[in-house]
Amino acid sequence: MVHTGVGHGATATRRGVCLVISAPSGAGKSTIANALRASDNRLRHSVSVTTRQPRPGEKEGTHYHFRTMEQFEAMAAAGELLEWATVFGRGYGTPRAPVEAALAAGHDMVFDIDWQGHQQIRHALPHDVVSLFVLPPSLEELERRLHGRASDHPDEIARRMAAARDEISHWKEFDYAIINMELDRAIDQARAVLLAARLAVARQTGLGQFVGTFGV
Ligand code: 5GP
Repeated sequence: MVHTGVGHGATATRRGVCLVISAPSGAGKSTIANALRASDNRLRHSVSVTTRQPRPGEKEGTHYHFRTMEQFEAMAAAGELLEWATVFGRGYGTPRAPVEAALAAGHDMVFDIDWQGHQQIRHALPHDVVSLFVLPPSLEELERRLHGRASDHPDEIARRMAAARDEISHWKEFDYAIINMELDRAIDQARAVLLAARLAVARQTGLGQFVGTFGV
């Protein structure tokens, strides 16, 4: 039996996939990332560091590592962040150690980060990143969803709407793009992207041994 990592659990015989999902705030990327993880216990979530305040229901270490700007800057200066960016005036970054540990073990990771993080992580891990951009059906729908979420102050919503166009302008830098018209369909499409990435020949380093049994 050969361990391809697809259907047999992740093993160190193949490279892990870093699935980066970006979108304007409110387009549904967290919901899509959560759904992928819920149905796939081989997928780890990269828990980011942020200097913003927790929203109601957000837990330290689960949704984010909540830190002061001083702590965040110290982590960045010490090289503990694989990438980091300032989004809406707050610091956001990806802790390096969990990503390196997951990749070494052949696990896959999903990253809910912005276009700046995508550029940096693609540069840092050129062979491991597969990226997906989630588009909203329209800017009007995006604003409606942000209001529906009601967890952000109206000023914050206005700031996020202004940033949405900027985020969307980077969509062509991604490997794949989907429109989140209907959540179940968007989740299926994201799952298909992850499956295709897992099946990439370059990533299935363990497969050579199996193919060798064909005498080729
Ligand atoms: P929120 O405050 O709504 O949780 O996230 C705001 C934005 O920051 C989102 O676009 C999210 O993808 C992005 N973000 C979250 N974590 C990170 C990170 O570690 N690095 C980068 N570059 N962006 C992040």
